[in-house]
Amino acid sequence: MDEQALLRQVLRHPGELGPLLVYADCLDLQGRASAAEMVRVLVALPALQPDHGHWHAMEQAFSRCLRQMSPTWLAQIDPARFGRRWPSDLPISMRPGQLRREIQDTVDRPWVVLGQAIDEARRNGAEFVAPFRNVNRRQRHQVVTLPPSVGQLVSLKRMRLYDSPLVRLPAEIGTCAELQTLDLLQSVRLSWFPHELTRCQLLQDFRVNNRVLFGNPMTCLAFPRLDPPDPERMVVARTLWGPALRRCATCDTEYDDRGLHRYWITARVATETVPLLANLCSAACVELLREETPGATTDPHRGGDTIRDLERSRSLR
Ligand SMILES: [Zn+2]
Repeated sequence: MDEQALLRQVLRHPGELGPLLVYADCLDLQGRASAAEMVRVLVALPALQPDHGHWHAMEQAFSRCLRQMSPTWLAQIDPARFGRRWPSDLPISMRPGQLRREIQDTVDRPWVVLGQAIDEARRNGAEFVAPFRNVNRRQRHQVVTLPPSVGQLVSLKRMRLYDSPLVRLPAEIGTCAELQTLDLLQSVRLSWFPHELTRCQLLQDFRVNNRVLFGNPMTCLAFPRLDPPDPERMVVARTLWGPALRRCATCDTEYDDRGLHRYWITARVATETVPLLANLCSAACVELLREETPGATTDPHRGGDTIRDLERSRSLR
């Protein structure tokens, strides 16, 4: 089958893996490595979640491949139909029960400026950083997370992210062991935090917008459902990026993240009660999550229900 016929197959069945993988092999045979990689990234994308160990590698591969593609080919394949979302695709307000999946463009200027601010703070051993200070105000909304290098700020005590466009924090925030103040007020797209935040044991001044958090009893913003990923697509992700190594939220052992044990738990962190997303190595560690989470106020759950349902199920227990 020629390339155009394969592409037509792909576009006719965007949810099917088979045509995409055959198409990627065909592009490889033609020596079009970047296009083949982009197609495989689009296969992996629906299986990945923003808290998964491969998500940042996916963002980097996607952003790099994007620059190497011809606009004609990109217009034909249209990555949006495979679940690609840019920050500009979604409004500021949350859609209930959904984990935001905006992809960070890691080649884009605002991201580069943000990374430089973090690098400079690391070199200087800074105790205070306001990483958005030098990001052009009109381009700020193109940034949805912080670079993983934020975890190298071992001297950092105060971070100002007031009125930031962030939709998530990276798990690496948990290695900022000296962090005492984290100001996220008016960061109204931020509805959850990585469980790793509980490792910042000196954190005492934590400012967030409660009304936009999952599980807030006033707004009843439902927790997104945490389903296990499609194993076939995960195989492709592992072929592209190898094992996704991370530390278990409960036992702190390094493990290869297959996205099987993801749980919500709400806990008191410094001055706030916030929803935390925990990634765990095993079912046994899920059992221990509540007692291993300082300040926990709920049992671990998979989300997907309204807050009233969650409260009802607790009262029936
Ligand atoms: Zn564990």
